[in-house]
Amino acid sequence: MIPYGKQFIDSDDIQDVVLALNGEMLTTGPLVERFESELSEKVGAPTVVVSSGTAALHSAYAAIGLKQGDEIITPPITFVATQATAILLGAKIVFVDVQPDTGNLDPELVRSAITPKTRAIVAVDYAGHPADLRELRLIADQYNIYLIEDAAHSIGSTYYGQPVGSIADLTTFSFFPTKNLTTGEGGAVSSTIPKLLERAKKFSRQGLVREPSKFKLENDGPWHQEVHEFGLNYRLPDILCALGISQVKKLDRFKERRREVFDYYSHELAELDWLNLPIERDYVSSNWHLFPIRVPAKERKTIFNLLRAANIGVQVNYIPAYRHPAFSDYKIDPIQFPKSEQFYESEISIPMHAGLKDSELEHVIKSIKSSL
Ligand SMILES: *Cc1c(COP(=O)(O)O)cnc(C)c1O
Repeated sequence: MIPYGKQFIDSDDIQDVVLALNGEMLTTGPLVERFESELSEKVGAPTVVVSSGTAALHSAYAAIGLKQGDEIITPPITFVATQATAILLGAKIVFVDVQPDTGNLDPELVRSAITPKTRAIVAVDYAGHPADLRELRLIADQYNIYLIEDAAHSIGSTYYGQPVGSIADLTTFSFFPTKNLTTGEGGAVSSTIPKLLERAKKFSRQGLVREPSKFKLENDGPWHQEVHEFGLNYRLPDILCALGISQVKKLDRFKERRREVFDYYSHELAELDWLNLPIERDYVSSNWHLFPIRVPAKERKTIFNLLRAANIGVQVNYIPAYRHPAFSDYKIDPIQFPKSEQFYESEISIPMHAGLKDSELEHVIKSIKSSL
């Protein structure tokens, strides 16, 4: 099976992990800060690492103090972690429909979804293509709310020349194996606002305060530490940071290959009028995480099954989040989100990763061409 997404691990990665295993510290050691500083350089803003993309979202929401009664605006076309972590803090999700070409949050529809309870607009860079961050920023500033970017798909992408991570108030990344770089499980939060990043970091490290200048209790001795606000253990161990450091070095090469695959597919599939291809806006350079084609909705299952039968590990990204039974008390009528429904019903993610061989790409193209 040619998977739709896959990690790229080489002997340098393996060697660095083995070195870390032989080191003094398995968990919080010197490699955590090194990975954070490599990432900060790459994404153009200070960054803290955490144990997953889900942990990154949870920590980002905790950083803005998201709580019971607050609302956040999110698109339905995403992995449900974008919403789940906010709901677990007591917030309510306000869904806003997507653009049919990118699958990203439609800024035109965001304004009318804002209420006095809205605390943040949470954009998702679907497939690696940054959302319309300028338009969303204008709205966020006008209403004095936060702009958060779920960049689980888009580390390495740029928007008007700026790297993803340096644009929103808080940006979250995932290092799950199918994503653009991997630590097995892992994630990160970036922010240009030091106070927010500090709060996200503290939340992900049990809420522990260790700097004596910040103590509220009497400092009784070197063992003293305090918790001012509760947090969780979302630390990323040194062993995985070793892999991350080695992977970041290859991010530009990964992006180059992903973009080659994108260009090849786009060129080869352009002649098929029954199929919609992903697009890239002029001011974007996407580190493609997915290659989402859109086919006629009534043929989707047939084409999907034919491709699976041809040993192509296609996937569908995503079931609109509000369809999950966990949202049943929201009583959402899908008719309110025609673009998301249409996108979901016609979407197939074909293989997109840095390790794809030319012969595999040819097989994918041949199989798609003969599938309808
Ligand atoms: C993968 C993903 C997440 C969650 O990341 P994990 O590392 O799997 O916890 C969140 N949002 C989106 C859009 C994702 O694709």
